[in-house]
Amino acid sequence: MDFATNQSLELRQTADQLNSAFAELSASQILDRVLNGGVAGRPAVISSFGAEAAALLKLIADKDPATPVVFLDTRKHFSDTLDYVDDLMDVLGLSTLVRVRPSARRLALEDPDGKLHSVDSDRCCYLRKTLPMIGVLRNYDCVLTGRKRYQTADRAGMDYVDVQESWLRVNPLADWSHDQTRDFLSSENLLEHPLVAMGYSSIGCEPCTIPSDDHRAGRWADEDKTECGIHITENGAVARIPKTSG
Ligand code: SF4
Repeated sequence: MDFATNQSLELRQTADQLNSAFAELSASQILDRVLNGGVAGRPAVISSFGAEAAALLKLIADKDPATPVVFLDTRKHFSDTLDYVDDLMDVLGLSTLVRVRPSARRLALEDPDGKLHSVDSDRCCYLRKTLPMIGVLRNYDCVLTGRKRYQTADRAGMDYVDVQESWLRVNPLADWSHDQTRDFLSSENLLEHPLVAMGYSSIGCEPCTIPSDDHRAGRWADEDKTECGIHITENGAVARIPKTSG
C-alpha cells in the first residue's frame, strides 16, 4: 500500500471515529473537542463571511480567538464583504486572518479581462477558489466549515466529519436549520453582513450573486451549479446537483 493510500485510510478511520463521538454533541461541544481537545490535529476555519458566517465564527471566538480564519479573496467580492471581514474579525475578537488570493499570473493568462465567470464559471471558480484554497488548506489537519445540511441537496446527507484531500473537514453546524441559525444570530446580536438587509440570503462573488430569500437561488442564478469551489476537489470537479428550495 503506498503512502497516500495509507494516509487516506487513516483519515477515513479517524473521520468515522469522530462521527461516532460527535453524534450526540452540540456544535459548541464539537468545537471544544476540536479547538481545545486537539482531537483532529491543527485546526483552521474557512469562512466566506457571508450571510450566516457570524454564527460559526462567534462559537469559535468563544473557544479560541487565535484560531486561523481562512478567507478566500477571489478578487470578485462585493466591497461590502471585504469591509465585513475586517469588521467581524474585530467585533468577535478573532486575531488570525489568513487571506488567500488567486495567482495573479494565472489570472493574467486565463482571465485577463475578468469576465471568465460569464463564459465558464467552473473554470473561474477553479482558478479563483479551488487552486488557491487547496494550496493553503494543506497546512492544516482539520478544516472547520459552516456548512449545513439544509442548504443544498448535495449537503443533505453530509456527516459532521469527512475527508478532503489530506485533511479532515469538520462541519459542527451540519444539523442546524435555517431558523435555528437566524435565531442564534439574532439572540447573540451578531454583526450582520450589510447585504442581508438588502435581500441577499447567500452572498458570494458579486457577478454571480443576486438578491434572493432562497439560500442558493441567489447564487449562479442561470446555472444548475451549487458549489463554489471551496468545497470541491483539486481536479476541478464541481457539483452539478439541481438546486432545492430548502
Ligand atoms: S463565484 Fe463567480 S466570479 Fe466567483 S470564482 Fe466562481 S464563477 Fe468566478
